[in-house]
Amino acid sequence: MDKQINILKNEPLSKYSFTRTGGPADFIAFPKSVDEVRSLVKQAKNDDLPITVLGNASNLIIKDGGINGLVIMLTDMNSISCDNHEIVADAGASYIDVTIEAQRNSLSGLEFAAGIPGSVGGAIYMNAGAYGGETDKIVKSVVVLTNDAQIKSLSNQELHFGYRHSLIQENDYIVLQATFELQSGDSNDIQLEMDHFNSLRASKQPLDLPSCGSVFKRPVGNFAGKLIHDSGLQGYQSGGAQVSTKHAGFIVNVDHANATDYLDVIHHVQAVVETNYNIHLETEVRIIGRDK
Ligand SMILES: Cc1cc2nc3c(=O)[nH]c(=O)nc-3n(C[C@H](O)[C@H](O)[C@H](O)COP(=O)(O)OP(=O)(O)OC[C@H]3O[C@@H](n4cnc5c(N)ncnc54)[C@H](O)[C@@H]3O)c2cc1C
Repeated sequence: MDKQINILKNEPLSKYSFTRTGGPADFIAFPKSVDEVRSLVKQAKNDDLPITVLGNASNLIIKDGGINGLVIMLTDMNSISCDNHEIVADAGASYIDVTIEAQRNSLSGLEFAAGIPGSVGGAIYMNAGAYGGETDKIVKSVVVLTNDAQIKSLSNQELHFGYRHSLIQENDYIVLQATFELQSGDSNDIQLEMDHFNSLRASKQPLDLPSCGSVFKRPVGNFAGKLIHDSGLQGYQSGGAQVSTKHAGFIVNVDHANATDYLDVIHHVQAVVETNYNIHLETEVRIIGRDK
């Protein structure tokens, strides 16, 4: 691998993941520019190493065996700029920072994301959303690196957004940058809306404990949290992972959990809800890596 770019070997990913779980990455790199990402991708291909891209690791369960090959973590590529009604942000920029930049520039449309703790790349990948807002409503275009190391711009339509879904999930594209198109608004109103959403979050979500947010997607015509609550599963614990007593859709790390504890809780919840309601809860969180 390239000697110029900071690459760590055998680095525990529990240091980076929001659940504080996950085994080591064979290699992890923190590129600072598109050129560095490109050169990492080319070298990994030459060395026959699989590549995994991480944003803020806030929607992941990384298995205890860690990740094979090269992990590229984009958090050092984080510039954000504003021009008229548009905000251009690097993939590794914090989505929350983008909402702050929008508010500072009296731009409305991103208020819903005020408390989503991911990166811009992760928000595009997941089509992150909250409180009736969704990323696809404000994305104009996205710059990606294709698997043959070409840079390409994709329009909103080309990204095939759906509920917690985008085209990026179907190929190996790496999101490098996104352009958001917003509307003029009143900066005080925007701030009030953001504060309102953040206080709703604080009142309903266990933000004091490590978690990966809502673990399950919303099943059609229902709510995962309600099915889990009504099944009496809040407080169910395996090892150090527990179905939150504050928000049934969250699984929190209450006592040095590992990824196996998380997966055990997920499988138990899925089995009980399936028995009770004949509904399969599909995970929203991405489960990646190898078994120990
Ligand atoms: C307390 C809490 C609250 C949350 N609330 C919400 C919420 O309200 N709404 C919501 O939608 N989500 C929520 N989440 C989940 C999470 O923050 C979002 O899904 C977020 O968009 C994930 O971004 P990330 O950068 O952390 O992605 P990561 O967790 O790093 O990665 C998620 C997936 O995206 C891929 N990916 C990341 N960056 C790139 C890139 N640049 N190019 C290609 N692929 C990439 C990864 O490979 C992985 O498969 C919450 C999480 C927590 C912990």
